[in-house]
Amino acid sequence: MRSANLAAVLACLRDDGPRSRAQLAAGTGLTKATVSSLVGELVDRGLVSEGGLLRPGSVGRPGTLVELAGRGTCGIGVEINVDYLAVLVLDVAGEVRRQARVALDTAALEPAEVLARASAMTAAAHAEHPAVGVTVAFPGGVQGSVVRTAPNLPRWVGTDVAAGFAELALPVRVANDADLSALAEWSAGPHAHVPDLVYLTGEVGVGGGVITGGQLLRGSTGLGGEVGHLALTPGDAACGCGRTGCWETVVGLAALLRAAADPGDPLRDPGRDLEDRLAEVADRARDGDARTLAALADIGTGLGVGAAVLVSLFDPAVVVLGGYFAQLGEFLLDPLTQALGARVADPHRVVLSTLGFTAAVRGGAHVALQPVFTDPTTVPLEASA
Ligand SMILES: [Zn+2]
Repeated sequence: MRSANLAAVLACLRDDGPRSRAQLAAGTGLTKATVSSLVGELVDRGLVSEGGLLRPGSVGRPGTLVELAGRGTCGIGVEINVDYLAVLVLDVAGEVRRQARVALDTAALEPAEVLARASAMTAAAHAEHPAVGVTVAFPGGVQGSVVRTAPNLPRWVGTDVAAGFAELALPVRVANDADLSALAEWSAGPHAHVPDLVYLTGEVGVGGGVITGGQLLRGSTGLGGEVGHLALTPGDAACGCGRTGCWETVVGLAALLRAAADPGDPLRDPGRDLEDRLAEVADRARDGDARTLAALADIGTGLGVGAAVLVSLFDPAVVVLGGYFAQLGEFLLDPLTQALGARVADPHRVVLSTLGFTAAVRGGAHVALQPVFTDPTTVPLEASA
């Protein structure tokens, strides 16, 4: 009962922002005396702090504002992607405490070596910002913590990803990267808590995360929303999954780079940071390079064709584009909207993610922190309190 009440106070602060005890009592339906006692305990657990005064104008003694504590308890998101590793630390107040990304040709390495590097990056983050848990984003289908499908990282099938982080002695979850990105879009930012949202991310693979009625669509084997392998095109370009005609072969990063640059062009060097390479694509497009512009127009049209299928199936209030689709969005939105508008009656809202390539790690850190919001007593009382 008490842990549920502590959780209700935390949720109120997370969803509605800093407030006075009286406002917390009104928001949770608890008495002011109970709220005061709960706030005291949450302060002792380092989860909330008391700061500024309620703005003037209210009658009587000014109330002290209670807010989520920006220090202390953190969650860590880790992303293993085809061409980079990333780590992000989020505190309970939703502030990013640390983030890092390194370019890595993951497909060329053994999973054990990649896991060792990812684990070392995570340990460094945990040493600086002690965390309650870790969630690892992986570009494929995951059951439990074992990779079941990984079209772009085939040698990972059967790998227990969580086992690679055992040295940390922290709870480690593993989830699909696009699903975590969709949760990141849904948990914060301009589209927070839109009940029906489709997230599409363009990287080497094309991932999708679908939230319907406020719930993440997982499907019977966790592959729900894995849209990159929709058989959408008659083309014979081979996909990493072994089939041909997948949507990813038309709009994935490889398709863009192949169309925009010849082999040997620095754009196609997987050892270079992806954002730098994409910035160069954007520069070429702004300079009016015909080949780059044609490649981007084709990607935009291909995106619209597939988005029309998803819009017809899920009727989302918003379609959020992430990954490279967001970084090059200014060149993709017009052809995309045109192709989409020709295929669905209602031109749905397509927007660009503002989280960039941090969406999956941010969603992972958010998920890693959830046990704290479910049961705040899992965080120990501070010795100095
Ligand atoms: Zn495929």
